[in-house]
Amino acid sequence: MPIEKTLSIIKPDATKRNLTGLINAKFENAGLKIIGQKRLQLTKSIAEKFYEIHKDRSFYNDLVDFMISGPVVVQVLEGENAVKLNRSIMGATNPDEAEQGTIRKEFAESIEANSIHGSDSLENAKKEISFFFADIELVA
Ligand code: ADP
Ligand code: MG
Repeated sequence: MPIEKTLSIIKPDATKRNLTGLINAKFENAGLKIIGQKRLQLTKSIAEKFYEIHKDRSFYNDLVDFMISGPVVVQVLEGENAVKLNRSIMGATNPDEAEQGTIRKEFAESIEANSIHGSDSLENAKKEISFFFADIELVA
């Protein structure tokens, strides 16, 4: 299987509850390597730009406000099939529909405050990684 990189964001509901380490353990236990990571306070304009793809959705403004309500941890995960593997570790968007053992099942507070973001395709992973990281910040 191909070695891929994907972008992950530990969201404010999770950083506020000090869950960064428990979430990172899920990635590492599943064989994903954290090859870049930083804790950031997003600004409104950065969050709006990152989630531009959702700008016509009813939840867009609330989502942007939530993503700037506290620190986030942006990270790049690398491993075999990383994009799909990460989505399965995260679980479904709505925690009520997420499988046992997934990050969202264990930690999410709601469909909005669902603890984690992960790229949904290899193409989007490349765009999202370059949105937050320079090549020099990624060390495998
Ligand atoms: P995912 O994060 O699983 O890829 P989406 O890309 O569809 O899901 O949505 C992006 C984010 O927007 C979700 O992770 C969640 O924080 C928020 N969101 C999605 N759907 C809703 C909704 N119906 N109501 C409120 N927030 C939502
Ligand atoms: Mg998405």
